[in-house]
Order: sequence, then C-alpha cells, then structure tokens
Amino acid sequence: MKISHSIFLSFVVILLSFAVTTYNDYRLTQGIKENAEYLSKSTEIVKYVSRFQRNILSIESGLRGYLLTGEPSFVKSYNSATIENEEILREFSQFPLDSSQLNLLKEIKLLNSRWTEDYTNPLLREKTRFLGSGQGPDSLNGFYKRFINSKESGVQSELEHRFSEFAALEYSLREKRKAKLAAKADEIQTISYSLTAVSILVGIIVTFLLIRRITHRIRQMSLLANRVAKGDYNVNISDLGNDELSFLGSSLNDMAKELSNNISLLKRSNSELDQFAHVVSHDMKSPLRGIANVVSWIEEDHSEELSPKMKEYLDLIKSRVVRGENLIAGLLAYARVDKDNFRKEMVDVNGIVEEIIDNTSGKRLGINFSSLPTINTERVLLLQVFSNLIDNAVKYNDKEKVEIFISFTESHDKYHFDIEDNGIGIAPNHYRRIFTIFETLKDKDSFESTGVGLAIVKKILDSLGQDIQVKSVPGKGSVFSFTWPK
Ligand code: ADP
Repeated sequence: MKISHSIFLSFVVILLSFAVTTYNDYRLTQGIKENAEYLSKSTEIVKYVSRFQRNILSIESGLRGYLLTGEPSFVKSYNSATIENEEILREFSQFPLDSSQLNLLKEIKLLNSRWTEDYTNPLLREKTRFLGSGQGPDSLNGFYKRFINSKESGVQSELEHRFSEFAALEYSLREKRKAKLAAKADEIQTISYSLTAVSILVGIIVTFLLIRRITHRIRQMSLLANRVAKGDYNVNISDLGNDELSFLGSSLNDMAKELSNNISLLKRSNSELDQFAHVVSHDMKSPLRGIANVVSWIEEDHSEELSPKMKEYLDLIKSRVVRGENLIAGLLAYARVDKDNFRKEMVDVNGIVEEIIDNTSGKRLGINFSSLPTINTERVLLLQVFSNLIDNAVKYNDKEKVEIFISFTESHDKYHFDIEDNGIGIAPNHYRRIFTIFETLKDKDSFESTGVGLAIVKKILDSLGQDIQVKSVPGKGSVFSFTWPK
C-alpha cells in the first residue's frame, strides 16, 4: 500500500472513532438535559401532590369549623382549598405522566368529585340551611351522624391514600430514570474510552510501521548513494516496493546504471587516450633522435663550413629537440600514472624531502621542515608529488635565497601538507590553468617548462581521491596544499 494511502486510512479510522466518541458525548449531554427537565417537572408534581394533600386538610378543617361555629370565614377557606384542588387536578394533565400514573389520576379525580359532591358540599349546604331555618341543633346532628356513618366518610382517607401512592410512583419513576441515565453514562464512557484507546493504538502502530518502512527504504538508498560515492557503480536497490519512495529508488537505480555506463565509457576512452599518448610518444622519439643525430653529424663533419649564424640555428634545433624529448618523457610519465601498480610500504616523508633536496642544485636553498609523518603508502607516487612541487618552488623563484617551508596537519583519514615558497607567485586567475597538461605561465625556454609537472601531481591525487589547492601572492610566493590518504 502507498504511504499516503496508509496515512489517509489511519486518519480516517482515528477521525471516525473521534466522531463516534463526540456523538456519544452529545447523546450523554442530551440525556442529562432531558433528565434535568424531567427532574424539575417531577419536583413540581411532588409539590402539587403535597399542596393537594394540604388542601384536603384545609377543606376538612374549614368544613368542621363551619359546622361547629357557623362562621362564614371557614366557608371561605373551604371554598379556596376546593377551587385550588380542582385547579391542581387540571394542571396535572399538562405533565408527561406514565400510564399507571394516569390511571391513578383518573381514580383520584373520581374520588375527589365524590368526596366534595357527595360529602362535604351537602354538609355545608345543610349547615347553611340549618342556620337560616331556626331549627333546633338536633336536626343538624341527625343529618351529620347519618353522613359520618355512611361509606362516603372513608373517601377522604382513600383520596389521601391514592395521592400518597401517586407521589410514591413519581419517586420510583425518578429513581428508575436516574439508574437508566447512570447505566447509559457508564456505557457511553466505556465506548469513549475504548475508541480513544483504539485511536491511540492505531496512531502508534501506523506511525511505527511508517517510520520503520521509510527508515528502511531511506537506509537502502543512502547505502546505494554511499557505494556510488565510493566508486562502486554496479549497485541496485532490489526491493523497490510500490509507494512514493519507489520513484526515488528507481531513479537512483537508473542514475547508478547510467553512471556505471558512463564510467565504463570514460575508462575505455581514457585508456585509449593513454595508449595513444604512449604509442605516439614512442614513435616520435626516433624522428627526434634522428634530427639530433643529423645535427651532430653536420657539426662534426662540416664544422669549418658553418657560419656563426648557421651554428646558432643548429643550437636552436638541438634545444628544441631536447624540449621535444622532455615533452615526450613528461607525456609518458603522465600516461603511466595510474597504469603502474605500485607497492605500498612505510615511507618516511622526511627522507623523501631530503632525497629531493640532494638532487636539487644551483640555487641557495633554505628549506625548512620538521617531523613530517611516516605513511604506509606508494612511495613512487608520493615522491613524484613532493618532487614536482619542490622543483617548481625552486624553479619559479627569483629571490637571492630560495625559502621553502613544509608543514602538515592531520585529520582522522588524511594528512594535509602545505609547501610554501617565496617565489614569483601566481595570479589568482591562473590557479586552475596551471594544473592542465602542457599549460605554462612563463616562456618555455627561459624556465625549461613543459607544463606536465602539476598535471602529473593532479592526476596522482585524483586517482587517490585527494585534493590540491594553491594560494599565492604574486611577487611574494605561493602555498600548494594537498591531502594524502592515511
Ligand atoms: P612546468 O614546471 O614544467 O612548467 P608545471 O605543471 O609544474 O609545469 O607548472 C605549470 C606552471 O605553473 C608553470 O609553468 C609555472 O608558471 C607555474 N608554477 C608552478 N609552480 C609554481 C610555483 N611554485 N611558483 C610560481 N609558479 C609556479
């Protein structure tokens, strides 16, 4: 699966689980809101129930007071309690009651109307009539006792009992609802916890797998790049996979293949060139020798016939022949640099420098070096590098006393050598040119230059993967800095 698809999929899973969690939380909040609304209504119901029961007591005491005293104020309190209770019974119809509560309410309404219409109202009316008729108290007492003994007298306690039942039912419904909400909260909490855990787990697993996959692929690519950097171009990433990194992997494979082809071509044409230089140099040696021989025959056999001008021309021919031979020798040396297989040995660089100084003659030489390292390396190559650089430092020097200072520093894998002179110096625009074969900055005759020395130095260092640089102040001197592998 592609990396972008895996990331997308895991995001979808995580987002889905968060959406479900959020929906659950919403459901829980709705439940809590509904329950709060229900609770406030339930509180009102309970309040109405207790008011109703209180009013029954008021009706009872109002009736009794009026019967005993005949005071109209008792009738007033009786009436207001009766009216309020009727209102309460009407109010109940607006509450969301369950079926058993509705049945109870129906019964309560019936009982209430029976109690008021068959018991309290007739008693009240009889008392009023008695007060207006002027009859003796016995007639009212008789009426009252008939009532007290009738079955209607039990209606009041029945009514109170039903109302207590109604309130108890409300309390039990409230408890049930509370328990249901708590169970729902528990369930939602469990789902939310599980989904959050799943999201975290999916996140961790996908991240871990992606990191492992990407790291593995990048490691393969960097291994390939490292091997290419070390000159091994026959490399290939075998497991390209099928994701976004596959393009990069296949591009790297193509690059390594292309580099390998180009390097093979380059090597072939280099070796052809070297072979060509070799053959040409050898073939050119004999005609040059021939010219030199003819010149010496002329000088030996016809020396009296030669005019001074002719002698001057013959000397010129001889010097050009020497330069031609030097060029051929230089070309051969250049072509041979990476052909010969040199043996590695322990080389004391101090010894090499001393050997070069011994072979250098002519100028007053002040060479300064101390404690140069001993390196396990190809002696001939190191000697060629030092000898070309020191020869140049002596050759391109116009001072009374030639001063050369050789020093070095080292890093973990290479030595850094500096060869500093007080010679004629090099203008910065020639820093690159001097390393090209046959390039000379001065007149070839006056300095016996061929322009091969620094080209050989550069070729040796290139073949070892090392570097050379020059810094110079024209007229004051130059510093050639190069690295050598440890
Ligand atoms: P050659 O010495 O045979 O001319 P090189 O390749 O050694 O060939 O040098 C190329 C050119 O670089 C020289 O002709 C010279 O002009 C310049 N050069 C090299 N070394 C120095 C130096 N130490 N100081 C000044 N010029 C230098």
